[in-house]
Amino acid sequence: MLDKRSGSRLANLWDDAKAEGMSGPELLVYRSNTLGSDKRVTNYGGGNTSSKVWQKDPLTGEDVEVLWVKGSGGDSASIKLDGFATLYMQKLRALKGLYRGVEHEDEMVGYLPHCTFNLNPRAASIDTPLHAFVPKACVDHMHPDAIIAVAAAKDSKAITKEIFGDAIGWLPWKRPGFELGLWLEKFCLENPDAKGVVLESHGLFTWGDTPKECYETTISVINQAIDWFERKSEGKAIFGGEAVQSLDAPARRAIAAKLMPRIRGLISEKSHKLGHFDDQPAVLEFVNSKDLRPLAALGTSCPDHFLRTKIRPLVIEFDPAKPDVDAVIARLADDIAEYRVGYQAYYDACKHPDSPAIRDPNAVVYLMPGVGMFTFAGDKATARISGEFYVNAINVMRGASTVSSYVGLSAQEAFDIEYWQLEEAKLQRLPKPKALAGQIALVTGGAGGIGRATATRLLREGACVVLADIDEAALASANDELSKAYGKDFVRPVRIDVTSEDQVASGFAETSVEFGGIDILVSNAGLASSAPIEETTLALWNKNMDILSTGYFLVSREAFRLFRAQKIGGNVVFVASKNGLAASPNASAYCTAKAAEIHLARCLALEGAEAQIRVNVVNPDAVLRGSKIWTGEWKEQRAAAYKMSTDDLEEHYRSRSMLKRSVFPEDIAEAIYFFASGMSAKSTGNIVNVDAGNAQSFTR
Ligand code: NAD
Repeated sequence: MLDKRSGSRLANLWDDAKAEGMSGPELLVYRSNTLGSDKRVTNYGGGNTSSKVWQKDPLTGEDVEVLWVKGSGGDSASIKLDGFATLYMQKLRALKGLYRGVEHEDEMVGYLPHCTFNLNPRAASIDTPLHAFVPKACVDHMHPDAIIAVAAAKDSKAITKEIFGDAIGWLPWKRPGFELGLWLEKFCLENPDAKGVVLESHGLFTWGDTPKECYETTISVINQAIDWFERKSEGKAIFGGEAVQSLDAPARRAIAAKLMPRIRGLISEKSHKLGHFDDQPAVLEFVNSKDLRPLAALGTSCPDHFLRTKIRPLVIEFDPAKPDVDAVIARLADDIAEYRVGYQAYYDACKHPDSPAIRDPNAVVYLMPGVGMFTFAGDKATARISGEFYVNAINVMRGASTVSSYVGLSAQEAFDIEYWQLEEAKLQRLPKPKALAGQIALVTGGAGGIGRATATRLLREGACVVLADIDEAALASANDELSKAYGKDFVRPVRIDVTSEDQVASGFAETSVEFGGIDILVSNAGLASSAPIEETTLALWNKNMDILSTGYFLVSREAFRLFRAQKIGGNVVFVASKNGLAASPNASAYCTAKAAEIHLARCLALEGAEAQIRVNVVNPDAVLRGSKIWTGEWKEQRAAAYKMSTDDLEEHYRSRSMLKRSVFPEDIAEAIYFFASGMSAKSTGNIVNVDAGNAQSFTR
């Protein structure tokens, strides 16, 4: 392989027993999933597959030829039947009669819905004509790094010929669309024995009469390219050889933790970005190399790559032999501003009169010698996937530059794809982001009753959530449950004891490396204890003070430090207690510690306001359901304090409340969400009691 670290040849995974008895469309799903299961065959969401299948027309009952082709969006690895668009082949062929030439090719996309078979709502992609006009039953269009390396080499045509002879043809760069579909058809008709074609600066088309034949051709063509690269690269310096050496893994993460919030702050004025850090060997080899700067400046080549990564990354100047992170930080704002100026210049130089307005001019990919790669986007999945795409681009550059010269796409061609009206239309169709999209929240006690409900509420609104808790087992189960429900990109567990200065610092550092920084701190980790004052031991008193007041101090101090590094405001919500306002029998240590939390919140609201850092308090009372506090001693002690059985407690609290209602973790979470969101943008230093009404805890 181009990157020898990723193993040798692709295996032929076709299983006749599995394929036995499958219908044409089912075989297409099987083929697509099998191809997509190896990222060396195609990058995430990249490429598409199709089959032409004869089916009964639901209207006429006649047998008609239907093109099943991967629809817009989706990923081959996980695509199901409903991910495919279905179109009448007869109608698709008829479109040739409407075609007015290449300068009008974009209008052909508007005709595709008219060709829909069986009212299938899945939108057909821009690549549909490329599949339709290849006169073969099965067509694969993949983006394997090994083939894009051929496609992005200066002498791509000659290399294609050298590797594949006449079996695989070559077509010059052409933006995907109707015209390229016609080119492919012409190529097939003129070269009936060819099994596929390399598209310059783009990828691979392969075909076959049966799904199995098509799959096997795709795999063997990629393996041939991998073989060839391995032979040709033997003994050659990769990326011109090593210029600097990597720092060790903990040092790399420590630098990422320091830098990512600062980058994030500088690129998040319009909307908050999420970050991803990658220091895998392929990335380090590239960022440490002599050719890093010239190759990075050439930009990525495959359209799929630069749509995600922007054409060029930003290289952060840094010498790992004399690591001076503060100097990097001091220069960062200028470096980022310079990148924006460059992007504006690219836009101005390439724009057409009808081009869409300039989009976010900030870099997506940040490369740092000795450290690795940071990527930023509007959501975590996109940040992660953009990083994966840049690794694809690194693999391509490695292959192409070792055996030949790597060529990126020209700025104009890249611009024409990036600001293509059809691409813009796709962006416009995206659903409106959720209320907390782009926000990063850390919830202490995130594995407990109120913490878990809060995490759920924030996740529902699109935030990324770090669950910080001391209870490892509960943390693992909360992380499992929430990752399953909201996706792995959104949730991270960190095991911390909020009373430990070091652990708190490392929990926040972890948050910065995993997501890029922080916007919301929910300080909630806690306990409850009950004892008359004469029986309150110093240990019990200190425990309350340590976890509650000191714990809240430590996490908010760390959050403030990060907020100030990011310079994009911040939001702190303290989960205190009704008992912080109202005295309660036999719980002086707890009540006093909770009162300290409330006053700490007021002080921090005062200090944070000038930096747009808001601090507010939610006071729960008697949240029995889901709370671990109410499973232990506290429950018995409270029952004893009120001289009743534990079974009667819930009813006691309900009837004690003014509204005669029980309070649930979700009720507390709702108030926390209010303070964590823009709905309360103009509130700080406030307290909301969620206690079903209790006159003793009225704030004024
Ligand atoms: P819970 O016990 O279900 O959750 C508390 C979580 O905090 C647990 O997961 C626990 O492991 C974690 N934790 C404890 N010590 C920690 C430490 N040192 N470091 C990190 N994590 C630690 O309880 P809950 O009811 O969800 O309580 C959440 C907060 O709400 C607490 O601050 C509590 O005082 C407050 N509160 C609860 C009630 C109620 O009736 N449940 C009423 C008023 C206030």
